[in-house]
Amino acid sequence: MSGPWHRPDWRGGCFGFLAVALACTVSFAVVAAVPVPITIMGERVEVPAGTTVAAALGEGRQPEAGDLIDVDGEILEAGAGMPGVYLLNGLQCSPDAQVRPGDYVDVRPGDDIVETIVIEEQLTPAPMELRGSGSFVVVRDQGQPARTTVSRGVVTGRVLGQEERTTATPLSVMRVQYRLSGKRVVLTLDDGPSRPYTSQILDVLKAEGVPAVFFMLGANVAARPDLVKRIAEEGHELANHGYSHTLDEQSDQAEIEEEIAKTARAVEAATGSTTTWFRPPGGALSANMVRAAQEQNHRIALWNVDSLDWSTARGRPSADAIEARVLNPMPESGSVLLFHDGGGNRLATVQALSRIIRTLKDKGYEFCTLTQLAEAAGLRLGS
Ligand SMILES: [Zn+2]
Repeated sequence: MSGPWHRPDWRGGCFGFLAVALACTVSFAVVAAVPVPITIMGERVEVPAGTTVAAALGEGRQPEAGDLIDVDGEILEAGAGMPGVYLLNGLQCSPDAQVRPGDYVDVRPGDDIVETIVIEEQLTPAPMELRGSGSFVVVRDQGQPARTTVSRGVVTGRVLGQEERTTATPLSVMRVQYRLSGKRVVLTLDDGPSRPYTSQILDVLKAEGVPAVFFMLGANVAARPDLVKRIAEEGHELANHGYSHTLDEQSDQAEIEEEIAKTARAVEAATGSTTTWFRPPGGALSANMVRAAQEQNHRIALWNVDSLDWSTARGRPSADAIEARVLNPMPESGSVLLFHDGGGNRLATVQALSRIIRTLKDKGYEFCTLTQLAEAAGLRLGS
């Protein structure tokens, strides 16, 4: 063996090892990063292995949710419909599904949701048909509400269609005056009890020995139960004028019923008796007023002679003016006379009442309560 002895080439050896290591690493990396050919919405692309459907689509191409639309096709809320759909090879898939070579990725927008339509029956209350001008309000015919079928969107409330099933027939109401034989009248006093006038009026009535009807406000009843007790004990009729004197033709039925019921409860708490007659504040009559009174088992009584003791149009009325107003002309038998024992200074009323009662008695008049007058007239109470 003759030949030159070569020192091993350490450097070459090192390079060789590095090259192999590098080759291994690169091939390994190449395997991991082998691009995956797919088709996204018709466009051929390559994505890294392991890419999800959502990632492959990228931000701008995610499927859009549908809208919430109304029955007319107008958008109520964009994006509030069904969610958008991811498609992998034509089939719905999870956005997290991984793509494979040759996959076809697409999206489909979510369906719109048309708001639910409900069909309901709508009742339009019968309008009131009022005739006459007497003191007693009598219901001749309850009437029928109009029945209409309405289809509407639940979200918008928009009406899609409606069809009237039956037409309304009116609530027929009559104000009647009972013409009684002889000479009988009813004294009614509104808006009390109040101090000091209610007591003064009670003194007058006691001195003359005549009954009256007190249409009391519930709030006053609750505040002055002692006066209410005295009214009851002295044989007068307790009647209902609502609680707060706020009702009018526009009041809804529930509100009126509550005012009547609250006042009746206050009267009952003070005296143990309830009320059966209701007089709306200001004599306001409406279908709601009539129905509320019926529901609360009260009859409505108004008046046919107004003393105008409440009117300040020409300054506070004098006792003379009140007296003249009531007695000129003399009231017909069966008349219901309107006075006030509350709601202001009623001194003139107290004075006038004393004189009016004496004059009427001198002329042969008798005084009764509303219930007595109605019974004498043959009105079936409680029916
Ligand atoms: Zn009143």
